[in-house]
Amino acid sequence: MKRVYNFGAGPAMLPLEVMEKAQLEFLDYRGLGAGLIEISHRSAEFDSIINHTDELLTELAGIPANYKILYIHGGAQMQFSAIPLNLINRHQAQKASFVLTGNWAVKASKEATRYGKPQIIASSEKQNFSFIPSINTSDIDPDSSYLHITSNNTLFGTRWQEFPKTGDIPLVADMTSEFLSRRINISDFGLIFAGLQKNLGPAGLALVIIREDLLDYALPQTPALLNYKTCAEQHSLSNTINTFAIYMMSLVLQWLKDKGGVAAMEQLNEAKAALLYDFIDRSDFYRGTAQPAHRSTMNVTFNLNPEHKLAEFLAQAEARGLYALKGHRAVGGARASIYNAMPLEGCQALVDFMAEFAEANT
Ligand SMILES: *Cc1c(COP(=O)(O)O)cnc(C)c1O
Repeated sequence: MKRVYNFGAGPAMLPLEVMEKAQLEFLDYRGLGAGLIEISHRSAEFDSIINHTDELLTELAGIPANYKILYIHGGAQMQFSAIPLNLINRHQAQKASFVLTGNWAVKASKEATRYGKPQIIASSEKQNFSFIPSINTSDIDPDSSYLHITSNNTLFGTRWQEFPKTGDIPLVADMTSEFLSRRINISDFGLIFAGLQKNLGPAGLALVIIREDLLDYALPQTPALLNYKTCAEQHSLSNTINTFAIYMMSLVLQWLKDKGGVAAMEQLNEAKAALLYDFIDRSDFYRGTAQPAHRSTMNVTFNLNPEHKLAEFLAQAEARGLYALKGHRAVGGARASIYNAMPLEGCQALVDFMAEFAEANT
């Protein structure tokens, strides 16, 4: 069997142990004589999976009792609609503030124009999103229903090292490409959401963690399946949920717990990222594209010098089992996405290849 080191940005690699466990249980889920995807989302077996997923999330992320965990169809981008639908009415001015740090924040702010008045309070767009602008609490309009940020910018390889202090205004964070990669304090946020396919499981579902007092503001036109309050009351089971995605996430979370949890994973992620960034910084052949103080530990973006060697670099990398290193067209160059499931050995294999390639081409 062939398994590459998969540096794809998403859907992304899952831990081998998780893939093997899912394979083992696929035809006969724990002695039931049927696969998990063949049975009811209201069965005792699935009930126990979703409850266990809630418990693991609560433990791993340290979710306080006044927060609800929701699982919602449509991936991360569906939340760009669901958030304004559910929250923009928190303040009668129906405004929401946005910090533009990448394409995902831009998209979210555009979608919000359908439901209210988004306001851009800071942006790094002019420098092609190579850094995170700093903001003060006083930059946020006090009439804002919330402030939306993207905590890790998947395309551009930047992240918020520290989160803005927003006072009474709920902070909403798109953590799709980094949730559970580092320790955070959930109570700093009104709402956190993440599409599963980067760090948590398969595509198509979003995890939403929301403070209870924010459940009561949905606009009347909010679709029933996107209504946070209904989702919370129905334990995300108003209709048939993607049971397989929840099951896969439960395996990923159990794996993370067995690895020592988020603190241990954060340490490993820092070591993985440092291996790559230190090498890039020491080499004249490679150049990081994000400002060093704002670098992501999940998405390492870099270019080659000379740039025209990129196609050859990517082809040779792939031949060596280093898969999907092409950067996003908005940045160019290469990108190594090194989510939780990427082992240190994968980063070392990439550095070894990069050194050889530089040597052969200078
Ligand atoms: C990948 C990604 C998205 C989009 O996720 P979908 O599930 O495809 O909608 C949104 N935000 C961030 C930060 C991402 O990395």
